Amino acid sequence: MMMMMKKYNKINEKILNELKFIAGAGSVITEAERLEAYSHDELMEPSCMKYPQAVVFAKSAEEVSQLLKLANRENIPIIPRGAGTGLTSASVAIYGGIILSLEKMDKIIEIDSQNMFMTAEAGVRTAEIQRAARENGMLYAGDPCSGESSFIGGNAATNAGGNKAVKYGTTRRQIYGLKIVTASGDILTLGGKCMKDSTGYSLINLVIGSEGTLAVITEVCLKLMPLPAESIDLLIIFNDFKKAVEMVPRIIKLGVNPTCVEFMDNAVIKNCEKFIKEKLPHSENGHYIIVKLEGSNIENLEQDSIKIDELCSKNGALETLVADPARIWKARNAFAEADRAESPVFSAEDLVVPPAAIADAVKYIAGLAAGYGLTVHCAGHAADGNVHAHILKGALVEGEWREKLNSFQRELYAKVYSMGGKLSGEHGIGYKRTALMSEFCNKTELDMMKAVKKALDPNLILNPGKIFIIDE
Ligand SMILES: Cc1cc2nc3c(=O)[nH]c(=O)nc-3n(C[C@H](O)[C@H](O)[C@H](O)COP(=O)(O)OP(=O)(O)OC[C@H]3O[C@@H](n4cnc5c(N)ncnc54)[C@H](O)[C@@H]3O)c2cc1C
Repeated sequence: MMMMMKKYNKINEKILNELKFIAGAGSVITEAERLEAYSHDELMEPSCMKYPQAVVFAKSAEEVSQLLKLANRENIPIIPRGAGTGLTSASVAIYGGIILSLEKMDKIIEIDSQNMFMTAEAGVRTAEIQRAARENGMLYAGDPCSGESSFIGGNAATNAGGNKAVKYGTTRRQIYGLKIVTASGDILTLGGKCMKDSTGYSLINLVIGSEGTLAVITEVCLKLMPLPAESIDLLIIFNDFKKAVEMVPRIIKLGVNPTCVEFMDNAVIKNCEKFIKEKLPHSENGHYIIVKLEGSNIENLEQDSIKIDELCSKNGALETLVADPARIWKARNAFAEADRAESPVFSAEDLVVPPAAIADAVKYIAGLAAGYGLTVHCAGHAADGNVHAHILKGALVEGEWREKLNSFQRELYAKVYSMGGKLSGEHGIGYKRTALMSEFCNKTELDMMKAVKKALDPNLILNPGKIFIIDE
């Protein structure tokens, strides 16, 4: 059966004037050279790029409300956008229309030290939230690697993860309240500063991770944590990848409560070493597990480090080093850029499996890559079972690359789902993974998601073509 996509209207002169009336003429752009920056996110894949007709910079929830009412009335797509650091083209105007940028809503509204909460507008940078919490003697535990650029609203809309999710959970766990504007333009506050809430459906959790398809987030209320005074970073090196990753559940079982447990395979280490131009330990044959321990008492952290070292040494580790955090995290965080330098085009997979299955998943990827003659680099959040697998295009011609990537992904995700895994651990589905989503997500689950979408956004104006495509 042919799938019929909804048809949308274009912005005409009258609508453009109305946009300018709502947001102010200086907050609406339509010039091609200024729209370019909003025609893509960090994916930079030509087939996922598209110019919007206009970008509008909202300054308040009231303006967002008026813009959504206008988009509904005129049947024009409207795409909420944070900093555009996404990796799935989720904030791109695939069907044209208006990009609704939150970048001018960049104020921290309140730091409530007594209850340990921060309330901020959606366009505040994640690193700014972290800095403000720190300056007030507290920790904001959300920590995506893109934090210097991404916005807190984008983190909420994607349920961003990052290196600290093993101890503190993903962004969902940090958010207690949201101010949203519904698709029909109603302004609503969900949740707040209560530590518990069993008052009906958890609508806040429906909006978190909905990738701008259900509502526009204008404000977040974030839980802050006590700031750990001490930290130790350990670099544990193995010459066998399986042994390295199999150690991760056993480190967790020690009860040392690590903040981060990351892995880098040998190909990634070599590539990052080349990119940052710094010699990395055992780069000739090593595979890394990086552990960060944080707490209030350095002696306790040292004892925990000894426990980890003893466990790993007994189980084949070449060496456990107390690492210089600046150096080791520089290497880990260079993963994506180092691969981009190697192959400007690559597909960044973000699969997640139950943590104990991570070694089998990575082994499977290596076998599959060898079979297809593809170069695939794996690193990621080991204790979360979240593997970032970069499939490099290298010198392959476009047709061959597309064909190989397509079959590689289908074989990979069939295996991932058979292991109890999922398509994405933290980057989301966006536009890039809609076809895989319709193939691999359970049909009833997908139908429930579509029913929620239709109930909350009956005219399908909010970020259409993302997560799934609804046929009319
Ligand atoms: C180098 C690099 C490292 C990264 N590391 C991580 C990582 O460690 N962990 C991780 O999870 N991700 C990571 N990412 C991906 C990305 O940074 C995150 O998904 C981030 O949360 C996106 O935030 P943003 O403000 O850039 O949102 P955008 O990219 O602008 O938007 C992302 C999605 O959120 C929606 N959205 C944005 N703002 C709002 C809003 N106010 N209301 C409603 N919907 C909205 C958009 O419509 C879109 O669907 C990384 C990206 C890069 C380039």
